Amino acid sequence: MKSESTTLGYNSKVEGEVVVTQADAVINWIRKHSVWPMPMGLACCAIELMAVGASRFDISRFGMEVMRFSPRQADCMIVSGTVTYKMAEVVRRIYEQMAEPKWVVAMGACASTGGMYRSYATLQGVDRIVPVDVYMSGCPPRPEALLDAMIKLQDKIGRERSVKNLTAPKAAAAAPAFAGKEA
Ligand code: SF4
Repeated sequence: MKSESTTLGYNSKVEGEVVVTQADAVINWIRKHSVWPMPMGLACCAIELMAVGASRFDISRFGMEVMRFSPRQADCMIVSGTVTYKMAEVVRRIYEQMAEPKWVVAMGACASTGGMYRSYATLQGVDRIVPVDVYMSGCPPRPEALLDAMIKLQDKIGRERSVKNLTAPKAAAAAPAFAGKEA
Protein backbone atom coordinates (compact mmCIF):
# COMPACT_ATOMS: atom_id res chain seq x y z
CA MET A 1 0.00 0.00 0.00
CA LYS A 2 1.22 3.51 -0.79
CA SER A 3 2.14 5.67 2.21
CA GLU A 4 4.06 8.92 2.70
CA SER A 5 7.31 7.01 2.99
CA THR A 6 6.74 5.08 -0.27
CA THR A 7 9.34 5.94 -2.91
CA LEU A 8 8.06 5.91 -6.50
CA GLY A 9 10.14 5.74 -9.68
CA TYR A 10 13.93 5.79 -9.90
CA ASN A 11 15.81 5.87 -6.60
CA SER A 12 19.57 6.30 -6.95
CA LYS A 13 20.16 5.11 -3.38
CA VAL A 14 18.51 1.79 -4.10
CA GLU A 15 19.30 1.26 -7.78
CA GLY A 16 22.65 3.02 -8.17
CA GLU A 17 23.57 3.48 -11.84
CA VAL A 18 20.94 1.06 -13.08
CA VAL A 19 17.64 2.19 -14.64
CA VAL A 20 14.99 -0.47 -15.15
CA THR A 21 12.46 -0.07 -17.95
CA GLN A 22 10.71 -2.02 -20.70
CA ALA A 23 12.39 -3.13 -23.93
CA ASP A 24 9.59 -1.55 -25.97
CA ALA A 25 10.16 1.82 -24.30
CA VAL A 26 13.90 1.81 -25.03
CA ILE A 27 13.60 0.58 -28.62
CA ASN A 28 10.81 3.06 -29.43
CA TRP A 29 12.68 5.95 -27.79
CA ILE A 30 15.74 5.22 -29.97
CA ARG A 31 13.71 4.75 -33.14
CA LYS A 32 11.57 7.83 -32.85
CA HIS A 33 14.54 10.12 -32.34
CA SER A 34 16.55 8.77 -35.26
CA VAL A 35 14.11 8.64 -38.17
CA TRP A 36 15.92 8.75 -41.52
CA PRO A 37 13.47 9.96 -44.20
CA MET A 38 13.36 8.80 -47.79
CA PRO A 39 12.23 11.91 -49.71
CA MET A 40 9.85 10.63 -52.38
CA GLY A 41 9.40 13.99 -54.11
CA LEU A 42 6.99 13.60 -57.01
CA ALA A 43 5.52 17.08 -57.56
CA CYS A 44 5.10 20.55 -56.04
CA CYS A 45 4.80 19.30 -52.43
CA ALA A 46 8.45 18.30 -52.67
CA ILE A 47 9.43 21.97 -52.57
CA GLU A 48 7.77 22.26 -49.14
CA LEU A 49 9.57 19.07 -48.12
CA MET A 50 12.90 20.66 -49.11
CA ALA A 51 12.04 23.72 -47.04
CA VAL A 52 11.96 21.75 -43.78
CA GLY A 53 15.64 21.01 -44.21
CA ALA A 54 16.52 24.70 -44.32
CA SER A 55 17.38 26.77 -41.26
CA ARG A 56 13.97 28.47 -41.03
CA PHE A 57 12.18 25.18 -40.19
CA ASP A 58 15.18 23.00 -39.34
CA ILE A 59 13.99 19.39 -39.22
CA SER A 60 17.26 18.45 -37.55
CA ARG A 61 15.73 19.65 -34.27
CA PHE A 62 13.85 16.35 -34.37
CA GLY A 63 16.81 14.20 -35.43
CA MET A 64 15.36 13.71 -38.92
CA GLU A 65 17.67 15.73 -41.11
CA VAL A 66 19.44 12.67 -42.49
CA MET A 67 17.52 12.45 -45.77
CA ARG A 68 18.61 9.38 -47.64
CA PHE A 69 18.15 8.78 -51.36
CA SER A 70 18.78 5.08 -50.97
CA PRO A 71 15.95 2.89 -49.62
CA ARG A 72 18.60 0.74 -47.93
CA GLN A 73 19.45 3.60 -45.57
CA ALA A 74 16.00 5.06 -44.88
CA ASP A 75 13.09 4.05 -42.66
CA CYS A 76 10.42 6.67 -43.37
CA MET A 77 9.14 7.32 -46.88
CA ILE A 78 7.66 10.82 -47.23
CA VAL A 79 5.48 10.70 -50.34
CA SER A 80 5.25 14.34 -51.41
CA GLY A 81 3.37 14.89 -54.62
CA THR A 82 1.03 13.41 -57.18
CA VAL A 83 1.42 9.65 -57.62
CA THR A 84 0.75 8.70 -61.23
CA TYR A 85 0.22 5.08 -62.27
CA LYS A 86 3.47 5.30 -64.18
CA MET A 87 5.31 6.15 -60.96
CA ALA A 88 3.27 3.94 -58.63
CA GLU A 89 5.23 0.78 -59.38
CA VAL A 90 8.49 2.59 -58.65
CA VAL A 91 7.16 3.94 -55.34
CA ARG A 92 6.06 0.45 -54.35
CA ARG A 93 9.39 -1.10 -55.34
CA ILE A 94 11.38 1.47 -53.35
CA TYR A 95 9.11 0.89 -50.34
CA GLU A 96 9.73 -2.84 -50.54
CA GLN A 97 13.50 -2.24 -50.68
CA MET A 98 13.40 -0.36 -47.38
CA ALA A 99 14.30 -2.49 -44.37
CA GLU A 100 11.93 -3.05 -41.44
CA PRO A 101 10.85 -1.22 -39.42
CA LYS A 102 9.58 1.41 -41.86
CA TRP A 103 6.88 4.05 -41.96
CA VAL A 104 5.10 6.14 -44.60
CA VAL A 105 3.86 9.74 -44.50
CA ALA A 106 1.42 10.84 -47.24
CA MET A 107 2.23 14.53 -47.66
CA GLY A 108 -0.53 16.70 -49.10
CA ALA A 109 -3.84 16.18 -50.86
CA CYS A 110 -2.39 14.42 -53.91
CA ALA A 111 -0.47 11.74 -52.01
CA SER A 112 -3.35 11.22 -49.57
CA THR A 113 -6.28 11.10 -52.01
CA GLY A 114 -5.21 11.99 -55.54
CA GLY A 115 -6.11 15.62 -54.82
CA MET A 116 -7.66 17.53 -57.69
CA TYR A 117 -6.47 14.97 -60.22
CA ARG A 118 -9.49 12.74 -60.58
CA SER A 119 -8.11 11.29 -63.78
CA TYR A 120 -7.19 7.98 -65.40
CA ALA A 121 -3.49 8.74 -64.93
CA THR A 122 -3.47 9.41 -61.20
CA LEU A 123 -3.53 7.00 -58.26
CA GLN A 124 -6.29 8.07 -55.86
CA GLY A 125 -4.15 7.90 -52.75
CA VAL A 126 -0.78 6.27 -52.13
CA ASP A 127 -2.37 4.03 -49.48
CA ARG A 128 -3.52 1.85 -52.40
CA ILE A 129 0.03 0.63 -52.83
CA VAL A 130 1.80 1.18 -49.48
CA PRO A 131 0.52 1.29 -45.86
CA VAL A 132 0.34 4.93 -44.73
CA ASP A 133 1.00 5.85 -41.10
CA VAL A 134 0.25 9.58 -41.19
CA TYR A 135 -1.83 11.57 -43.67
CA MET A 136 -1.40 15.32 -44.22
CA SER A 137 -4.01 17.65 -45.64
CA GLY A 138 -3.27 20.76 -47.69
CA CYS A 139 -2.35 21.79 -51.20
CA PRO A 140 0.43 22.46 -50.62
CA PRO A 141 0.85 21.80 -46.90
CA ARG A 142 3.12 24.22 -45.10
CA PRO A 143 6.52 22.98 -43.89
CA GLU A 144 5.23 23.36 -40.32
CA ALA A 145 2.48 20.88 -41.20
CA LEU A 146 5.12 18.34 -42.20
CA LEU A 147 6.91 18.86 -38.90
CA ASP A 148 3.59 18.34 -37.12
CA ALA A 149 3.04 15.11 -39.09
CA MET A 150 6.52 13.89 -38.16
CA ILE A 151 5.82 14.59 -34.48
CA LYS A 152 2.60 12.58 -34.81
CA LEU A 153 4.65 9.79 -36.38
CA GLN A 154 7.03 9.93 -33.41
CA ASP A 155 4.04 9.52 -31.09
CA LYS A 156 2.89 6.54 -33.12
CA ILE A 157 6.33 4.93 -33.05
CA GLY A 158 6.37 5.45 -29.29
CA ARG A 159 3.24 3.30 -28.93
CA GLU A 160 4.41 0.38 -31.10
CA ARG A 161 4.89 -3.17 -29.79
CA SER A 162 8.45 -3.27 -31.08
CA VAL A 163 9.56 -6.49 -29.43
CA LYS A 164 6.53 -8.35 -30.75
CA ASN A 165 7.06 -6.87 -34.22
CA LEU A 166 10.60 -8.28 -34.34
CA THR A 167 9.12 -11.69 -35.06
CA ALA A 168 6.11 -10.47 -37.08
CA PRO A 169 7.02 -7.38 -39.14
CA LYS A 170 3.96 -5.14 -39.46
CA ALA A 171 4.65 -3.63 -42.87
CA ALA A 172 4.88 -6.91 -44.76
CA ALA A 173 1.46 -7.90 -43.49
CA ALA A 174 -0.09 -4.48 -44.04
CA ALA A 175 1.13 -3.66 -47.57
CA PRO A 176 -1.82 -3.75 -50.00
CA ALA A 177 -1.63 -6.00 -53.04
CA PHE A 178 -0.60 -4.07 -56.15
CA ALA A 179 -0.41 -5.40 -59.69
CA GLY A 180 0.32 -2.14 -61.50
CA LYS A 181 -3.25 -0.93 -61.82
CA GLU A 182 -6.28 -0.34 -59.65
CA ALA A 183 -8.73 -3.16 -59.08
S1 SF4 B 1 -1.18 18.56 -53.03
FE1 SF4 B 1 -1.06 20.47 -54.26
S2 SF4 B 1 1.05 21.20 -53.95
FE2 SF4 B 1 0.99 19.02 -53.33
S3 SF4 B 1 1.59 17.87 -55.17
FE3 SF4 B 1 -0.65 18.02 -55.17
S4 SF4 B 1 -1.10 19.82 -56.43
FE4 SF4 B 1 1.05 19.96 -55.82
